[in-house]
Amino acid sequence: MARRKKIYEGKAKILYEGPEPGTIVQYFKDDATAFNAQKKATIEGKGVLNNRLSEYFMTGLSTIGVPTHFIRRLNMREQLVRACEIIPLEIIVRNFAAGSLATRLGIEEGTALPRPIVEYCYKDDKLGDPLVTEEHIAAFGWASQQDMDDILSLALRVNDYMSGLMYGVGIRLVDFKIEIGRVYDGDFQRLVVADEISPDSCRLWDIETGQKLDKDVFRRDLGSLTDAYTEVARRLGVIPKSNGHSKPTLIN
Ligand code: UDP
Repeated sequence: MARRKKIYEGKAKILYEGPEPGTIVQYFKDDATAFNAQKKATIEGKGVLNNRLSEYFMTGLSTIGVPTHFIRRLNMREQLVRACEIIPLEIIVRNFAAGSLATRLGIEEGTALPRPIVEYCYKDDKLGDPLVTEEHIAAFGWASQQDMDDILSLALRVNDYMSGLMYGVGIRLVDFKIEIGRVYDGDFQRLVVADEISPDSCRLWDIETGQKLDKDVFRRDLGSLTDAYTEVARRLGVIPKSNGHSKPTLIN
């Protein structure tokens, strides 16, 4: 069998050339990193859960008309996606203060924000993904004004969809990060939600107890990350609610 061509290996995923032109295979690894990769671990089952959860969120978004790069899931750890040019920005949407915003502005974690706040970070690991403003984005040509209008609208639609979905299963969407890609259809360029949406890139707190069900469990040593992600997947019905075993069955 011919070996696939690896395009890129990141902290949590590997990208391979897809079977048709314009497609890419995203392979979800079990690796977890935090604090710009200063903290690292392999967490059994994380890749499988994130592959399923990202499929679930991306599919849901496309049913409400939000364009994404997702085509279909291939197996336990891989999904086929449209190749796109990633805009070098991390788009962060926040509903409650947490993490770097809480630290930067001295706001207590968990404080409800008066409205969703959208922030942009320049994607560069060497620089630690610094916070940037629309002035920097325009001046350095990372995205046009039209792109920025579209990105803001996509980010807020993803926030509405994800907040509602999570609220329905007793989870508060505190904040999340998305990445946006450009795809070309003939002469036209479109922006799509790309990369992944998973508990690696969201803050998810149980509404009743405040329990963290996201990557902060790993960042802050709060217990088993797999158990937290499994709980999210179970509540959403992405994996069976209960199968009588303590370990989840991750069906293909
Ligand atoms: N986030 C992410 N990747 C990053 C930085 C942030 O997925 O490289 C997510 C993070 O999980 C959280 C949100 O973006 O849901 C806001 O993160 P924050 O700026 O508070 O940074 P952190 O406290 O994680 O350093």
